[in-house]
Amino acid sequence: MKFKDNQNILENYGKRYLFFIPKVFMIEIKTSKRIEIVDITERVREIVESQDVVDGIALVYTKHTTTAVVVNENESGLKEDILKVLEKLIPSRAGYMHDRIDNNADSHLRAILMGNSVVIPITNGKLDLGTWQRILFVELDGPRVRRVVVKVIPC
Ligand code: ZN
Repeated sequence: MKFKDNQNILENYGKRYLFFIPKVFMIEIKTSKRIEIVDITERVREIVESQDVVDGIALVYTKHTTTAVVVNENESGLKEDILKVLEKLIPSRAGYMHDRIDNNADSHLRAILMGNSVVIPITNGKLDLGTWQRILFVELDGPRVRRVVVKVIPC
């Protein structure tokens, strides 16, 4: 690549970052069971691809204390395995202190175990996920209407 081309790329990048206003998007998810895994990959992809970000990261963050967001495979057997392991590691109503006031300590503890956000690289304007990787929202105390924040950040 010639020096002149490099110079143009730098100028374009400079402009992109100078005038880029970070945007926050909200995904609303209506769950239908107490525990449920919802694939939100396409909804996040739509947001990311609507933005003028060539390279960056997408933050996907759930705003609740009894939900989680993970990246993994959306396969029905695996999703059942995840729920079984959660029940095994953190059984329901096992004498938790929080159950005295809210009766959902298992939901909080499972949410802590799984985590409340993921960060996905954006490469060439697209979510840079592996072949089998999907963004999964995990409801742990539904059914409810939930909100997930998506923030697209150039870097
Ligand atoms: Zn609670």
